Amino acid sequence: MSLSHFSLSELEQKQDFVRRHIGPSEAEMAEMLASIGAESLDDLMQQTVPEGIRLPQPLKVGEAQTEADALAYLKTVASKNKVMRSFIGMGYYDTLTPNVIKRNVLENPGWYTAYTPYQPEIAQGRLEALLNFQQATIDLTGMELASASLLDEATAAAEAMGLAKRVSKNRNANIFFVADDVHPQTLDVVQTRADMFGFDIVVGKAQDASQHDVFGALLQYPGTSGAVNDIADIIAAVQANKGIVAVASDLLSLILLKPPGEMGADVVLGSAQRFGVPMGYGGPHAAFFATRDSYKRSLPGRIIGVSKDTRGKPALRMALQTREQHIRREKANSNICTAQVLLANMASFYAVYHGPQGLKTIASRIHRFADILAAGLVKAGFELANNTWFDTLTVNVSSNKQQIIDAALANNLNLRTDVDGSLGISIDETTSRDDLQAVYQAFVGANVELDINAFDKVITDNGSDSIPEKLARTSDFLTHPVFNSYHSETEMLRYIKSLEDKDLALNHSMISLGSCTMKLNATAEMIPVTWPEFGQLHPFSPIEQAQGYKQMLDELSEWLIDITGYDALSMQPNSGAQGEYAGLITIKKYHESRGEGHRNICLIPSSAHGTNPASAQMVSMKVVVVNCDKDGNVDLVDLRTKAAEVADNLSCAMITYPSTHGVYEETVREMCDIVHEFGGQVYMDGANMNAQVGVTSPGYIGSDVSHLNLHKTFCIPHGGGGPGMGPIGVKAHLAPFLPNHKIIGIENAGDGEVREHGAVSAAPWGSASILPISYMYIKMMGSAGLKKATEVAMLNANYVAEKLTSYYPVLYRGRNNRVAHECIIDLRPLKESSGITEVDVAKRLNDYGFHAPTMSFPVAGTLMIEPTESEAKAELDRFIEAMVNIRLEIAKVESGEWSATDNPLHNAPHTLEDICDNNWDRSYDRKLAAYPVASVAKNKFWPTVNRIDDVFGDRNLMCSCPDLDSYRED
Ligand SMILES: *Cc1c(COP(=O)(O)O)cnc(C)c1O
Repeated sequence: MSLSHFSLSELEQKQDFVRRHIGPSEAEMAEMLASIGAESLDDLMQQTVPEGIRLPQPLKVGEAQTEADALAYLKTVASKNKVMRSFIGMGYYDTLTPNVIKRNVLENPGWYTAYTPYQPEIAQGRLEALLNFQQATIDLTGMELASASLLDEATAAAEAMGLAKRVSKNRNANIFFVADDVHPQTLDVVQTRADMFGFDIVVGKAQDASQHDVFGALLQYPGTSGAVNDIADIIAAVQANKGIVAVASDLLSLILLKPPGEMGADVVLGSAQRFGVPMGYGGPHAAFFATRDSYKRSLPGRIIGVSKDTRGKPALRMALQTREQHIRREKANSNICTAQVLLANMASFYAVYHGPQGLKTIASRIHRFADILAAGLVKAGFELANNTWFDTLTVNVSSNKQQIIDAALANNLNLRTDVDGSLGISIDETTSRDDLQAVYQAFVGANVELDINAFDKVITDNGSDSIPEKLARTSDFLTHPVFNSYHSETEMLRYIKSLEDKDLALNHSMISLGSCTMKLNATAEMIPVTWPEFGQLHPFSPIEQAQGYKQMLDELSEWLIDITGYDALSMQPNSGAQGEYAGLITIKKYHESRGEGHRNICLIPSSAHGTNPASAQMVSMKVVVVNCDKDGNVDLVDLRTKAAEVADNLSCAMITYPSTHGVYEETVREMCDIVHEFGGQVYMDGANMNAQVGVTSPGYIGSDVSHLNLHKTFCIPHGGGGPGMGPIGVKAHLAPFLPNHKIIGIENAGDGEVREHGAVSAAPWGSASILPISYMYIKMMGSAGLKKATEVAMLNANYVAEKLTSYYPVLYRGRNNRVAHECIIDLRPLKESSGITEVDVAKRLNDYGFHAPTMSFPVAGTLMIEPTESEAKAELDRFIEAMVNIRLEIAKVESGEWSATDNPLHNAPHTLEDICDNNWDRSYDRKLAAYPVASVAKNKFWPTVNRIDDVFGDRNLMCSCPDLDSYRED
């Protein structure tokens, strides 16, 4: 076909990114539209989306840009960031990401596009990496049990406070003590959380902790000023009064220091950032959290455990899930859903790669640098605030403070400046001799040399007492084989690859998880994440150095405000669940500002995601459940009745739109009206924004506040269970109540004012370094492309629903029998007739090379399928073929041709070991087991373990690495 009759701009348009992001071609879309009985995408929208909520005008994000143009533009923006050498510390340190980890994990879709390992048989690789993370945490902290990552150090500290309240035997106490040498941003986040729970925070000298009637205390070791103090007696004194002691710490320091676990701590937490994860202007990085075995049921967040599969082989899975929001809802230990899996994996690989000896070398070199600098400064007449340290010195300064800061800045060095009368210097792995010299000269003068070699010789010969002898680490760590086997790059590369090969990610096949929106994470979107201009900024560096970030944040905020129909936005929350928490805080503060602080009831439909009630609980709201009717819609009569019953106490309602049942409810505006009529606010969960962008918006519908899951609709990859970003948009009346930050004041109500509100995350803009992903997506899609993505997401979902409905009933439909961007298929009738469960179907899909759709949410015994716009027709057809074929297999169980236990569904997934077993004795053949349809053979995925025994794993909880020998026995 000749293109000669197109104009240049038309030709250019044909080369845009949109057609790469969207799976089906125009011809395929036409075919699919015909098969579902719609004339065009527009017709499908008319049929599906209620008239009254359709946006009257297009988005204002502009024209789509090509990949090359968008990248070039963002590069000019990024180059406005000034990358300085950071000595600020405060929990963030520059680090050398081993290149083998950077390229093969951080930049590898095999790792970053995977989902949370809820289907463990096809996730043994990242489960092993997370188990290594837990083991490293356990070893370095000296604790018994660790979880598989939290969002950041400050929220981990807030979680520790929650745990303390749950387990402390000092039941009537309401005080949580925070030592005054805890990082200020940690205190900020803990204070916010305490205010919401109604706890009192007392800040004081660590040694005074036991003088208060506390249920718990937070200490920091080493302290934020760098001091290394013996805290054993303080811990014992608090515990003698039945208080729980949490210690914030630094994993790298614990290589050289006696671990808090050996000093009696109940919880040890902190950031694993400096284990090879770039600072990224605040994140993402993994927090670690370790505790006693006896508190395992109170632990927040995910925990990986060792169980066994049907062959009795050790196999990993997520353990004790009954603690978590998706099961326990408002009684859960925390609202954590998305956490920081990718970053925990990077940190664990860092420990694997360096091993105990390599880490000792790194930590010792850092410590030596600190010793040398300290000696030099003291000799030059400076006074140090502490006489102990691992890596951080606090230097007392007076009138010369600004002069030193300026001298440092002139040499591209950032010091810690936030404490009156002193400057802080934190040494890290990247610090060079030249850096040390430059820091010294900022204090002492440009023409004076620090004689590094001379000071080094004195310390080498005479030793150093900056770590008191009784606080030096004597216990072994990282003794498991995994930390002592892969120290050459070849070995490391193969270890990473061997784990990657066990996992099914988006680079293998579609992951149709309803509510999770596993769409394309385009390479062009990922590329800026590892640019040093975004990666190497300390979150508390002077704002003038972050002008590139500021511009990117401003443009992205403006687009998201347009897309959501709100007036203001906060980028601080690190996940959807944290966004819910932040949004509910704004609601609570808004009511308080109007003298209506008594409003504390949160109405939540029975179909809501577990994070909704769990977040409501975190702001001390009482959850009242609203029923859904038989069509899956929120029961308006029940909503009105319950709103009227609680009347003046109504704080808000949390609704999801389209509903978690995958339907555009016609009555959504009425729902908002009812809530407003009774003085409540509407929180609209933004997880389903992929069915709204460009077509409708929460603000337009009448909601007051929403979070966005940028890791769903806006292309940040799921990373195997994180990172994510959960910014919240609000209407103008809530804007004055958005979160702020103690170190970096944020003006986010659009009126130039910086208000005093507590933080919800450690960093002012959350995980800022992954925002370029969403930025690139919007820039490359443009207004029209974004809308089209929404339409095609709906086309794909309706196509799948249409093709499957005669095999599996589609449970809920909206107007004209349409579904929104996802559909629920009902397996309960088949369970009745055949005994085959939704779990059997989910595992059997693995044999066909697919990840299961969302299982038993929001309705038990169902699967919820969300194909997204990024899947091409061929992939949808392959999935449909698999589902249809599975239905035919179920028919053979129904008819009795296969028995209830001797059938390929019950025995799924099948491993290579099954197929090669010389004692194959099943009533179906091996080919049917492993290659049930011809297309599977082209791209076979082999689950590496058989079905895993969940009950055994929880009964015999083991959350640390078995040593290699125990694997070899089998
Ligand atoms: C994913 C999801 C959430 C939670 O978001 P996270 O980022 O995982 O914390 C909340 N509500 C719904 C409906 C979701 O699908």
